[in-house]
Amino acid sequence: MPDTRLLSALALARGDLDRAAERRDDTVWFDAAWADAATRVVLVHRGRTLVTGTAGETEGGGAASLALVAPQEAAYDGVRVLLAVDDSTTYVALLVDGSVEPWDAPDGSQWEGLREVGAALPDRDTGLLVMAVALANWHAAHPRCPRCGAPSVPSQAGWSRTCPEDSSQHFPRSDPAVIVLIRDDDDRALLGRRAEWPDGFFSTLAGFVEAGESAEMTVLREMAEEAGVRVDRLDYLGSQPWPFPASLMLGYHARLAAGSPAARPDGTEITELRWFTREEMRAGCEAGTVRIPPRVSIARRLVEHWYGAELPGSWSRP
Ligand SMILES: [Zn+2]
Repeated sequence: MPDTRLLSALALARGDLDRAAERRDDTVWFDAAWADAATRVVLVHRGRTLVTGTAGETEGGGAASLALVAPQEAAYDGVRVLLAVDDSTTYVALLVDGSVEPWDAPDGSQWEGLREVGAALPDRDTGLLVMAVALANWHAAHPRCPRCGAPSVPSQAGWSRTCPEDSSQHFPRSDPAVIVLIRDDDDRALLGRRAEWPDGFFSTLAGFVEAGESAEMTVLREMAEEAGVRVDRLDYLGSQPWPFPASLMLGYHARLAAGSPAARPDGTEITELRWFTREEMRAGCEAGTVRIPPRVSIARRLVEHWYGAELPGSWSRP
């Protein structure tokens, strides 16, 4: 049973890892870790990593693990990032340059993306991979100093970039976004279909926090913009990183305000809105006419928190 107080088991918010931030400035220690055959390396190349096992034919039904390699097996150009340490092992990501041509996965492993495999990995592996993918996206998108435009170089064991011209230092960013399930007085859930989705795909509403906004202000604004409704009570339920490419999703349930205008899609981002009872969702999903978000997403957990139970993987959209 899901935890009924707050969202539990968020797929991409797992892994109680020691990030060893105090080691990031110790280049001697980091070089020694890279020379140590016991160090384990997460390879990330063009958004994918090596895993063993399977993401599962039924969504959420797989069991996979990272195929970690020794540094000596990771002879590719790229940025090295200190991810974590535990009692016996140092974990490093190698963010392989995108210009390197793809190569075949070693026997027994295959290349998978975080979105596909994230829910099927154990806690430690998901924690490592979310960090590695988030940093890979950030390094790839920020090759230059934002002050002077000179090419910057990775620093602090991959956790910052430094400009050689003006010595300014720059850090990875996450873009906060709110994601919201609205409930009405009959305890129905409001879900929307995005313009680019096929018929029957529904999810919670979401939007980025704009400059100068609190997360709560964003919820009120986005619900008015996307669905034309007013909400008046917000329950913050938890967050998870969503590094596609750089979001941090803040999850809420919100109550439809008394006297709110009726829900109507904005017609651009959202083309269909629908109030679901639990029975309507179950019937639609079992008939295959409704699909809800995959288990890797916080949207799925917001729906399950309202529904009151974990829902079958076969109800997920691809
Ligand atoms: Zn600069």
